[in-house]
Amino acid sequence: MTPATFSTHEVLNQSPPFVDVDLFALDRPLAEAVAANGGASAQKELSEFGQHWGSAAMAERGRLANENTPKLRTFDSRGNRRDEVEFHPAYHELMARSAHAGLHNSTWAADGKPAGGAAEVARAAKFYMAAGVETGHLCPVTMTRASVAALATQPDVLAKTMPVIATRAYDPAFAPWPTKRGMTLGMGMTEKQGGTDVRSNMTRAERDGSAYRITGHKWFMSAPMCDAFLVLAQADGGLTCFFMPRFKPDGSVNAIQFQRLKDKLGNRSNASSEVEFVGAYGELVGEEGKGIRTIIQMVQLTRQDCAIASAGLMRSGLAHALHHARHRSVFQKHLADQPLMQVVLSDMALHVEASIALVMRLCRSFDRAPHDHSEAAYMRLLTPAIKYWVCKSAPSFLYEAMECLGGNGYVEEGILARHYRESPVNAIWEGSGNVMCLDVLRALSREVEAATAILQGLARETAGLPGALDAAAFIGTAFRRPDSERVARLAVEKLSLLAAAAALNPISPRHAELFAGTRLAENHASMYGAVDLARDDITRLLDRALPS
Ligand SMILES: Cc1cc2nc3c(=O)[nH]c(=O)nc-3n(C[C@H](O)[C@H](O)[C@H](O)COP(=O)(O)OP(=O)(O)OC[C@H]3O[C@@H](n4cnc5c(N)ncnc54)[C@H](O)[C@@H]3O)c2cc1C
Repeated sequence: MTPATFSTHEVLNQSPPFVDVDLFALDRPLAEAVAANGGASAQKELSEFGQHWGSAAMAERGRLANENTPKLRTFDSRGNRRDEVEFHPAYHELMARSAHAGLHNSTWAADGKPAGGAAEVARAAKFYMAAGVETGHLCPVTMTRASVAALATQPDVLAKTMPVIATRAYDPAFAPWPTKRGMTLGMGMTEKQGGTDVRSNMTRAERDGSAYRITGHKWFMSAPMCDAFLVLAQADGGLTCFFMPRFKPDGSVNAIQFQRLKDKLGNRSNASSEVEFVGAYGELVGEEGKGIRTIIQMVQLTRQDCAIASAGLMRSGLAHALHHARHRSVFQKHLADQPLMQVVLSDMALHVEASIALVMRLCRSFDRAPHDHSEAAYMRLLTPAIKYWVCKSAPSFLYEAMECLGGNGYVEEGILARHYRESPVNAIWEGSGNVMCLDVLRALSREVEAATAILQGLARETAGLPGALDAAAFIGTAFRRPDSERVARLAVEKLSLLAAAAALNPISPRHAELFAGTRLAENHASMYGAVDLARDDITRLLDRALPS
């Protein structure tokens, strides 16, 4: 590209935009993690996806959808309720592209059963790449895909909605879902007095013929233009899950009244509402009183997606940082050739490589869980642990990636400022950090035998790696302590690190050794790059992360 010339200077030494690239072909750790977990046959499809999502046009859509945030139109000009949220066309484009690629449904067969094969792994690879481009719109995408697991407890509702969920069309029309080409679903659990503690929900559900009338509020209900929501409310039999469409079966608008949209740190392209249900129409999903058990089927999947998306955000941060460092010269040398920058970038590359190996291993367990007890146990135990570790590591990682670009990293025109603001949310929603640790403790105490077998398996898979034996021993005893909550964060972090080393070992034994050596044998310093890596290791890590 010819440098631009101003009357006072030429623009020199700026890195070109990291666009019009194949996000899959450039990401060897991703391709190898996909292949190692059963997804080798998806390579062509993933490369097509990677080229499309790596285009300058998609990056521009991401920028526009975040700069032009959704607007709540509560009333029309005559004072009638409207309760619609308007989005920029770029948001709709992103939704359409994600739907076209099946991000909202490809893990399900047309009848709502798990699709089988490596559907989870292949979809996760796409979700990961999409998250690196624009994350906010993925909220309704992930909720739609996850809702099928909860709807499965109510076969009649599943049977009627699945034909519309199963299409790859995105239909933004504000119209009754049965008339649409495609539909999205959201989720309403959190109330003012409690988000984690949903048992404190005050929203009431009264029987009305074969349906229910629901009255109350939700303090956070994201993606309010979804066609229907899975909502928790107190029925006579206790806390219960309901299917609440935007339109009633007679075609009139349901009594879902939005109060305002949240003014959020990040996640700006996505709308999150405060809402009141004024005797809104709802249909039962699952049994009365079994609301938590029903909706947890959905939440398990949204937690999985939080980990995938956070890994994708970090990958994008790494790729932008490395790309910049290879083009930017400081003191007559490219940043990427400065020894201190090399060690920062390679330590970050190691973190991403382990994260994607771990996330794909988790997705394999989702693929196999329906037919394999031990994979199902791995999925139950490791989902909260991996959500905890991957999501909570993202903000500090993205801060470091931002700093690799210097001042350019900090301004809103680049993608890293947006990624940084986005990154904390995946740790907060769908079960915050402590809640994930408590979930791991619960899974361990409920399934002692299965958990012991998983720990033994991880110990076997990491045999000989530095620090692995001690970590496995610590985890085994920490969870049995009467005061296990006090060491739960330490134990869950070690469990995730051990599982990451185990997932990385068959893909890249040398990198598993480096990962264990810097994270299990020693406590990793709080800053990236505060490690002692050999020159050959640095070169290999960076070449794998982004071919030069
Ligand atoms: C952008 C955004 C969008 C959201 N969208 C939705 C949505 O669509 N639908 C929906 O239902 N909700 C949504 N939420 C709400 C979200 O799921 C909750 O905020 C989250 O579950 C935490 O609940 P809370 O805010 O009530 O915090 P609390 O439940 O009050 O928790 C506060 C802190 O206490 C910790 N904690 C809780 N219990 C314990 C314990 N026993 N021991 C130690 N620590 C504990 C938690 O880890 C957390 O750090 C959204 C939130 C955000 C930020």
